[in-house]
Amino acid sequence: MKFPHEYVRSGECVAGCGACCKSISFPLRVSVGDNQIEVDRIYADDPGLRHWVGLHGIQLQAWGVGVMAILPQPWVVRQSSYGDIAFIPQRCSALTGDNRCALHGQAERPLLCEVYPLHPLDLEGLEGVCAYKFKGG
Ligand code: SF4
Ligand code: SF4
Repeated sequence: MKFPHEYVRSGECVAGCGACCKSISFPLRVSVGDNQIEVDRIYADDPGLRHWVGLHGIQLQAWGVGVMAILPQPWVVRQSSYGDIAFIPQRCSALTGDNRCALHGQAERPLLCEVYPLHPLDLEGLEGVCAYKFKGG
């Protein structure tokens, strides 16, 4: 797999799209129930990621030496180039009714959202929807 700097990104975000803000996914690890899943520690340790996860209504709590995500609705398994992922069709609470980011231009907007997408794999599932394109390395 190539690194992000090996690609050239083109395009720009389309106001009123919001397609990438309507779900969230994690690499599939241990599931404890329909509404709980173990996630990597980075989601709890990194303030920006923790904020982004929280905006999707997900609470994080210590679980042994790991971190458990308590989900607002059940997850489903999806296959991706990263391997199996836990996909949660939960929209971000900052997404307005007309599919705009209420945090746009504000310090509270997660850095992840400012730089998205960084890699072609970020667009998996959004092919033909997202206006960004990558040329390849
Ligand atoms: S903070 Fe804004 S850009 Fe980021 S997921 Fe939420 S609505 Fe989308
Ligand atoms: S899917 Fe692409 S075009 Fe749509 S909001 Fe996300 S980044 Fe913008």
